[in-house]
Amino acid sequence: MDLKNIIRNVPDFPIKGIQFKDITTLLKDKDGFRYCIDQITQHCEGLNIDYIAGIEARGFIIGAPVAYNLGIGFIPIRKKGRLPYKVEQITYQLEYGESTIEIHQDAFRKGDRIMVVDDLLATGGTTLAVFKLIERLNGIVVGADFIIELEMLRGREKLQGYEVFSLVKYDI
Ligand code: AMP
Repeated sequence: MDLKNIIRNVPDFPIKGIQFKDITTLLKDKDGFRYCIDQITQHCEGLNIDYIAGIEARGFIIGAPVAYNLGIGFIPIRKKGRLPYKVEQITYQLEYGESTIEIHQDAFRKGDRIMVVDDLLATGGTTLAVFKLIERLNGIVVGADFIIELEMLRGREKLQGYEVFSLVKYDI
């Protein structure tokens, strides 16, 4: 399946110079959406994963159906202030400014094996922050699965030592 045909590129969004990869055109394509979920599910099979963790908001759209397919639970990682119970949080640098994300302290048990799912790997900063959050709670990070990888931003290098998988790579 040629995913590049159904992922829309929007130049200069949200700021000048960014080539924004818009997955809404992929999500509404029933065959493309199913293909992505099934490919990521297949990659997770055999890795002995206890939970899929997804990052708000696009990570929820991709991660939840993967967890459903695998017959395992889904853990939401949310922006600061949205989770109602006791949280562990981490603040990390974005290209512009910083962001704080949170996970429930009782989201999983010590030693559980977790795969992180998101729509897109850019610099890897967000994913690395999620990895740290999980490891602080004594979870085992198996790796991270993405639909899109922006190779020139070298996010994969930041995530060395983990299983990193993506379905379509861009070098622009
Ligand atoms: P990262 O630099 O890997 O921390 O990227 C953070 C998040 O920003 C990713 O999970 C994407 O959802 C989003 N993102 C970054 N760059 C792009 C882009 N060019 N197009 C669409 N989403 C992006």
